[in-house]
Order: sequence, then C-alpha cells, then structure tokens
Amino acid sequence: MPEKVVIVGSGPAAWTAAIYAARAQLNPLVFQGNPYDNTNKANGTLPLGQLALTTEVENFPSWPAGNTREYLRTALKADDVDFPYWVAGDKEQPTHGINGPELMALMRQQAVNFGTRIESKDVTKVDLSKQPFTLTMHDGTTVETLTLIVASGARANYLGLPSEDKYKNKGVSACAVCDGFLPIFRNKPLVVVGAGDSAAEEATYLTKFASKVYMVVRRDQMRASKIMAERAMNHPKIEMKWNTVVEEVLGNEKQVTGVKLKSTKGAADETLDVAGMFLAIGHTPNVHFLDGQLELNEMGYVKWTTVARTYTSVDGVFAAGDVADDYYRQAISAAGTGCMAALDAERWLGHHGHV
Ligand code: FAD
Repeated sequence: MPEKVVIVGSGPAAWTAAIYAARAQLNPLVFQGNPYDNTNKANGTLPLGQLALTTEVENFPSWPAGNTREYLRTALKADDVDFPYWVAGDKEQPTHGINGPELMALMRQQAVNFGTRIESKDVTKVDLSKQPFTLTMHDGTTVETLTLIVASGARANYLGLPSEDKYKNKGVSACAVCDGFLPIFRNKPLVVVGAGDSAAEEATYLTKFASKVYMVVRRDQMRASKIMAERAMNHPKIEMKWNTVVEEVLGNEKQVTGVKLKSTKGAADETLDVAGMFLAIGHTPNVHFLDGQLELNEMGYVKWTTVARTYTSVDGVFAAGDVADDYYRQAISAAGTGCMAALDAERWLGHHGHV
C-alpha cells in the first residue's frame, strides 16, 4: 500500500504540514534528512532545518521573553531534553523566548505527538511521472506515496571564508530581518555584502538599527533594480565600497570587530571597523533531488502554479516553505504554507477517493 502523504523536509514548513496531516488521520511519513552526511553538514541542511543554525528567534509569534526552560523540559521527549542546544547551560534567557533549535525540536515533537513517523534519510531521487509517486532514499530504500509535500527549504549562500564560518551567530548573519534587531548590532557600524535587490533592501533595513552601513560591492555598480539601488546609494547612513570584496572577517573570538576588504581593481586593502557582516548574496533552494521533474521559477525555486495554493506543476505534489519562496523566507511564512500544503494534500486525497 502506498503512503497517503510523504513530506520531505525538517523545517517549520515540514513539521507544520506533518501536524496538520497527522491530525487529519493521514498518518504522514517525514523524511527529515541524513544527520551524518558531510554535504548536509557543510550546506547546513541537517534535520531541524535552517533554524537549527541560529540562536534567538525573536519573531516567531507566541514566544515572548522569559524563561521557557522548564516548559521545554516537559514538552520534549526525554532524549531531546539533553540535546546539545541549550543556550549557556543553566543560564536563564530573560530577554529571549526561545532559540532556533528549541523551537524546531518543539515543532517536531508536536508532530510526533499526533502520530507522525520520521525517517532520518535523504531523499535522493523521485519519480513523479506516474501515480503512486516513488521516492528513493540515500540508502537505496524506496517508498511509494499518493501525495508528496516538498518542504526541503533553502540555504543562504556564504562567501566560504573560514573566518566567516568562525563568526556565524557572533556577528555574521545571512538574515537582516531575523538578526538586525539584536542588541549586538545596535548603534554600531555594519557591513552588507551583495549588490542585488536583497542587498539593497537589507542595507536600507539595517539603517534603522546601525550607526552606519557599508555596502561591499564587487563591481562599480549595483545589480539591484534602479529604484532599490538609488534608495540605498542615496541613504545618508549608507556608504558604498565599490570594487571590493571581503577577504577576512576580523573578531575578538566573541564577536565580529571588523572586515578586511580587498580591492578588485588593485587598490590598497582596507579594514572597516564593524560589529556585524550581513550576507545578501542569494539563497540556493534544495531542489537537487527533484531532478527537473517539478517546474521551477526563474530563480530556481519550486513554482506554485496557482495563486494562494501550494499546487505545483505535478498533480498531487505540493510545495511549502523556503523551497518555493524566493521572497519572504521566514519561519512563520514557511509554517503557514506548510499548513496550506497539508490541507491541499488532504483535499486532493478526498477528491480522488483515497480518504
Ligand atoms: P528549512 O528550515 O530550510 O529546512 C529544510 C530541511 O529539509 C533541511 O535542513 C533538511 O533537513 C531537509 N531536507 C532538505 N532536502 C532534503 C532531502 N532531499 N531529503 C530529506 N530531507 C531534506 N526566520 C525567522 O522567521 N526568524 C529568525 O529569527 C530567523 N533566523 C534565521 C537565522 C539563520 C542563521 C538562518 C539561516 C535563517 C533564519 N531564518 C529566520 C529563516 C528561517 O530559518 C527559514 O525561513 C525557515 O527555516 C524555512 O523553513 P523551511 O521549512 O522551508 O525549511
């Protein structure tokens, strides 16, 4: 017998879809990825998704400031309680409600509580050409399913510098909307790397908090749309650093203190004193395993084919979260489309006489 609903993913979209599908008695099976795979480690595509890579999450509704620790102890299954993500040992978190790994572990637990089954495997191949669909895992096992929810997320692109890696969560960020508000960046100079629309938008956004924002641009012009580029370039708090690239992130072990810039035109190197570096050089959606069987948009994300639905180009396949979202890329929006995908799958099964 084929599965009714298989979900590929492990972020807010996947677990929200699983909660809804499980409560609809669809007995969902989630493939959350292989935690031991070195490519997953390098790409940051491990179980629990992108939020497992961060500390405080201040903008997911229902997690206000306070000590949530005791609640977490009772809410999570025993072997997750000692999971290595507790912030600062026994220290309470008076100003932050929850951190990323905790939030994700709670979402997964909520899905499990309603009967979701989980396999820690990567889906490496799919056959969406006929019903039921067939998925192949990294260990060669296969599963058949009537509906598929693709919630495999995306990953932020980084420069790939060892010093950048060292200061992730200590001043290096790939999400201004997520992190710009944090106290470590308040009234401090910051740097944004990138030249597209999102770089212009992130730099402008960060001027709300920073004393000054430098934009590091490899060439002598922006790639952003004219209006976005001009808004950034004319902003009194933004200074453009044309024809430069970041060569090294500098820090005092605890936090970023500056960046070393190299000229792409042979000019002298320069050091900027900044408290944070924000990358805005794009995201890569995790679509490799689909091997061209779902239509993608011009930026490589899974295309939603109907407005306000999670339908894709293949009937019975739904997409949720960052894998289909090149614009918002937030935990709450991923969770929202995860809910939609599960309801869409449930209705598809009903319409085809499977429930
Ligand atoms: P993701 O979180 O991207 O998870 C996808 C997961 O799917 C992968 O990790 C992997 O486990 C699994 N997967 C992928 N491919 C396969 C496969 N082939 N087989 C099996 N499993 C697979 N948003 C906020 O709202 N607030 C914040 O404070 C915030 N902070 C952030 C900080 C950082 C450092 C980053 C990188 C992002 C942050 N975001 C934040 C953005 C947020 O994390 C994402 O929008 C959200 O996680 C997207 O969720 P998702 O469900 O689409 O999938």
